[in-house]
Amino acid sequence: MPRPKHRSRSLRRVQKKMPGGKTRQVYAMRKPKVHKCAKCGVELKGIPRFMPNKAKNAPRTKKRVERAYGGFICASCAREKFKQEARLG
Ligand SMILES: [Zn+2]
Repeated sequence: MPRPKHRSRSLRRVQKKMPGGKTRQVYAMRKPKVHKCAKCGVELKGIPRFMPNKAKNAPRTKKRVERAYGGFICASCAREKFKQEARLG
């Protein structure tokens, strides 16, 4: 029987190869969800699924794309947004 804390399905069960050659089940945290466009909901490209502790120390350039609204809305929505902004002045 696994430890009480490992009975929960909130942790993933991963088969991992140990240094001795045997495989053993280890418990790993689930990866965060993919970032989505705030306007159309499409998956954003170029934004990795960092674990919160890794995202904290990662540089800003690795967490978003170098564009206005980068990491918030997708490229096509951004293009439309720039057009609207230009029209409005
Ligand atoms: Zn979009």
